[in-house]
Amino acid sequence: MSAGRAAPAPQAPAIASTATPRTPEADASAVPTWERLALASGLPRLEARVLLGHASGRRREWLVAHGDEPAEARAAVAFAELARRRRDGEPIAYLTGSREFLGRDFEVSPAVLIPRPETELLVQAALERAPRGARVLDLGTGSGAIAISLACERADLSVLGSDASPQALAVAARNAQRLAGDALASGRLRLRAGSWWEAVDLQERFDLVVSNPPYVQAGDPHLAQGDLRFEPPQALAAGPDGLAALREVVAGASGRLQPGGWLLLEHGRDQDAAVRALLAGAGFTAILTLGDAAGLPRVTLGRRPE
Ligand code: GLN
Repeated sequence: MSAGRAAPAPQAPAIASTATPRTPEADASAVPTWERLALASGLPRLEARVLLGHASGRRREWLVAHGDEPAEARAAVAFAELARRRRDGEPIAYLTGSREFLGRDFEVSPAVLIPRPETELLVQAALERAPRGARVLDLGTGSGAIAISLACERADLSVLGSDASPQALAVAARNAQRLAGDALASGRLRLRAGSWWEAVDLQERFDLVVSNPPYVQAGDPHLAQGDLRFEPPQALAAGPDGLAALREVVAGASGRLQPGGWLLLEHGRDQDAAVRALLAGAGFTAILTLGDAAGLPRVTLGRRPE
């Protein structure tokens, strides 16, 4: 340390240390490498790579292998904007417009909840209980992740997905077209507008009803934090105790289920007892709560008596 001298101004370390240009072209235009773009964004490395992949149209493996090459200018500009939005809190899935769910890429937009890994449990539980040829209803389908996954996993199922939001249904319809075009064309997979049971014809009956309704308490501070700030409030929050939508779904389910049919509901980690009580109150039997990968009570199901 040399006393009496001001310390040098801090520099972005990655840019300073890896700036040695390898080619005259890179030197002339001072183009940053892919890796330097990622580092200088200030984002976690994986997030930066995902957004860089989206901005460049390159696979992440390619970006890793070519990290020390000059970045394409157009991709660098697009990435700078995506990185800024991410630093301002926007969810990665809305920035890239897609999220993987049960091995398939679903289009997402701020009109729909971003599919969560814990919801895969709901789909698995439904698949285990659906008899051959079952008719399945997914209430509040959002991006269509549940309904479309069920239709894709089992060609014998007929699936109806409903949603109150026309914007959400438009996203679901594009996902259905891309991921299950044949099922959509044949009518084995259908989408319908309407709030909860309003979307369903009075005389229609189902062997399974599944739903991942909004279940967060309206005043929950989490709604003002992280990704949840950007997601549709009507897909997240449901009244002061978070049970308003679950009550509505349970209340209409018995009348629309075949005898012996199953109702499967996703809910909050602290709502399992309340949901079991709702199901018991509506006459359901074989009531059971399943834990998610984190061991939290996440899905409760029950059966309409034969
Ligand atoms: N699991 C979501 C969350 O807590 C909530 C989804 C929902 O309300 N259906 O972030």
